[in-house]
Amino acid sequence: MQAHPNHGRRAVSRHLPFGEKRDTRFYGQHILSVAQFDRMDLETLFEVGEEMWAMVERVGSFDLLRGKVLTNLFYEPSTRTSSSFAAAIERLGGSLIQINNVTFSSVAKGESLPDTIRTLESYSDAIVLRHPQKGSAATAARYARKPIINAGDGPGEHPTQALLDLFTIREELGRIDGLTVTMLGDLRYGRTVHSLAQLLALYDVRLNYVSPDALRMPAELVERLAGLGVPQAEFRELEAVLGETDVLYVTRVQRERFDDPADYQAVHGSYTITPETMGAAPERMVLMHPFPRVSEIAIEVDEDPRAAYFRQMEYGMYVRMALLALVLGKA
Ligand code: ASP
Repeated sequence: MQAHPNHGRRAVSRHLPFGEKRDTRFYGQHILSVAQFDRMDLETLFEVGEEMWAMVERVGSFDLLRGKVLTNLFYEPSTRTSSSFAAAIERLGGSLIQINNVTFSSVAKGESLPDTIRTLESYSDAIVLRHPQKGSAATAARYARKPIINAGDGPGEHPTQALLDLFTIREELGRIDGLTVTMLGDLRYGRTVHSLAQLLALYDVRLNYVSPDALRMPAELVERLAGLGVPQAEFRELEAVLGETDVLYVTRVQRERFDDPADYQAVHGSYTITPETMGAAPERMVLMHPFPRVSEIAIEVDEDPRAAYFRQMEYGMYVRMALLALVLGKA
């Protein structure tokens, strides 16, 4: 794994107790962008994720990260990311400082992000940060001596979601190479698809993007992946590619990123997956969504065995357990 360029101010001791093994590619690193990872990193992470899954099934929780403290610092709403990191650190025997309503912290008094980061790293071993500004996690990392984990920086990236999405595909279909992945919805502002498309580019995949014109995948990202030789195609209608899709990744229109509510009204509700859509989809297709869903997938679809979004949430906890264990040096 490439160290992020902002890494380098680390003052974490690298002296290991006798017998302890650390994956030096993860240990002490900020996790800011999926661009940090190569396929070997992902294999390491997913193997540890599977071990975490087995351990949770066997014993529920265990003391791998006993004595470690994680801070969850969330400037934007979150259900899954925040609570799965909380569950992950607690199942590993560590503890959590949870700040998910910054209006009750000194942020409301005008405290800057660097000052908040420097404060919280005094108390904890890593900080999970969600913030509305693109690039905020990288800014935080410039000031931090402890690992910063990007849990969503505005419309930028959401690397840990992409890691769990990839783990989901691997668990559900047994492979990633050779698949056709169709991303549907708000590809412009949806940070999860920005991260996932980049991670998938490490594999032999075909990517379809289906969106209204106003919400197309950023041209810069499409060009970058084209430069890497990834076959990509853009469509307005799902019907054009549904039959060839192995993974259908549905996203919510990101209302909070629109300056003008009329622009949101014009595009929201553009696509809804219904039992009829599933009737026309391949038998082995996997249907994913990072959630929350608003109206993109009808609840009747939940009973379909191809609907993987609730399993996807559970996989997320195992992947985040694996990531914490590797970054904090205990896997
Ligand atoms: N929960 C995901 C995110 O934080 C997806 C979404 O909000 O639509 O990006």
